[in-house]
Amino acid sequence: QWARVRGRLKDEVGETAYRSWLKPLTVGSLDGGQLRILVPTRFMRDWIRTHYADRIRVLFANENPGVQSVDIVVASAARSEPAPAVAANDAPLPPAAPAPEPVTELVIEPVATLTVTEDRTDEMSAPLDPRFTFENFVVGKPNELAFAAARRVADAQAVPFNPLFLYGGVGLGKTHLMHAIAWAIRKKDPARRVIYLSAEKFMYQFIRALRFKDTMAFKEQFRSVDVLMIDDVQFISGKDSTQEEFFHTFNALVDQNRQVIISADKSPSDLEGMEERLRSRLGWGLVADIHPTTYELRLGILGQKADRIGAKVPPKVLEFLAHKITSNVRELEGALNRIVAHAELVGRAITLESAQDVLHDLLRASNRRVTIEEIQKKVAEHFNIRLADMSSARRARAVARPRQVAMYLAKQLTQRSLPEIGRKFGDRDHTTVMHAVRKVDELCGTDPAFAEDVELLRRMLEG
Ligand code: ADP
Ligand code: MG
Repeated sequence: QWARVRGRLKDEVGETAYRSWLKPLTVGSLDGGQLRILVPTRFMRDWIRTHYADRIRVLFANENPGVQSVDIVVASAARSEPAPAVAANDAPLPPAAPAPEPVTELVIEPVATLTVTEDRTDEMSAPLDPRFTFENFVVGKPNELAFAAARRVADAQAVPFNPLFLYGGVGLGKTHLMHAIAWAIRKKDPARRVIYLSAEKFMYQFIRALRFKDTMAFKEQFRSVDVLMIDDVQFISGKDSTQEEFFHTFNALVDQNRQVIISADKSPSDLEGMEERLRSRLGWGLVADIHPTTYELRLGILGQKADRIGAKVPPKVLEFLAHKITSNVRELEGALNRIVAHAELVGRAITLESAQDVLHDLLRASNRRVTIEEIQKKVAEHFNIRLADMSSARRARAVARPRQVAMYLAKQLTQRSLPEIGRKFGDRDHTTVMHAVRKVDELCGTDPAFAEDVELLRRMLEG
């Protein structure tokens, strides 16, 4: 059973994650429906619990309906001994003398087989995503500085600034830019040794080196690279001994004028749980932030992405997505992928309607009661008129029509009465609102383009 579950897990998470996290697991006892899974360290236990425990439970339950829950325990703790001391909780360690291996009689598979003399930099470096190139990166106001800095680092002959520190919220392109730098350097200069890895993996390697009393090799491997990229460095916040090691590696590389590139979710000075000297050092080079996306950037990214996968997506649908999915680029891509996959599967063209159906759950999450003010604002933006004209006395068609649309939507999407709506539109009479509602209904029946506009607005507002 375990073998089958492991096989499935491996397929799901990929070779690298499997080797790092799942291979070392062993199965303990099954007790009243609770299955115990043994891991070598506390750190791994926490990690497996948050990331994989659920999946493991599901897969196991498929194999054996007797399994109802899964508990992840540290191997030695399973025998009611103290948890292993080796950096598992990442306490500071005396540098020269790593703590001894915990005494444990349980046979735990080694985390990975090590050959100390071999060049392991390839193994250390995480694989690069072939889609994450500069060509595939859409540049807009929010990311232009980060993009320019990344390009400079990739193209420059000498190290232009050290380190390059990229920061921004999740899914805004930090990892993409780092991979792009790596691809560009590899292409230009294959002899340069570029290593990209997450801070998490850095920590994992470090702990493993401690475990196997292999820290010298670890240090040497990292300090012999030309370009070192560490992604999501906030991960080592509060992990003192990993930070210490990272700090030394970092200094050694910068001193030798090797390029270091770091990403994080916050600026160096805002990284809590980081040592002061490390924070200040991280800010010495160029610090470039990636801002949340704008509507224009989202639209650009969607357009590029749709082109790339060769999908026919009506512009209205792209606009709709760019309006509705504002959290980050990853979600945006996810939404587009779902729509495209769905259309392919059912063999029908993508429409605004089908898009909304497919994304029902996603959109509902952002659903709240819409206000008349929001309606006025959106409609004014959409028709490119001033917000003030929603309540002005101007009667020109160019402003009167959008105003009617806004009234119509207010009637449809809010619980407000006609007189209430009228008041919000420059103290107009309720009969004016009623007239607007009829007019818009009528136009929707005769003018498909107009109907589509109104529909788009409605969907954008209501989600
Ligand atoms: P982060 O590392 O900042 O959390 P990622 O680099 O993983 O974010 O980006 C998430 C997804 O969004 C990736 O698929 C990436 O290709 C895509 N993405 C982010 N920004 C852009 C952009 N400006 N142009 C094209 N794709 C982007
Ligand atoms: Mg990332």
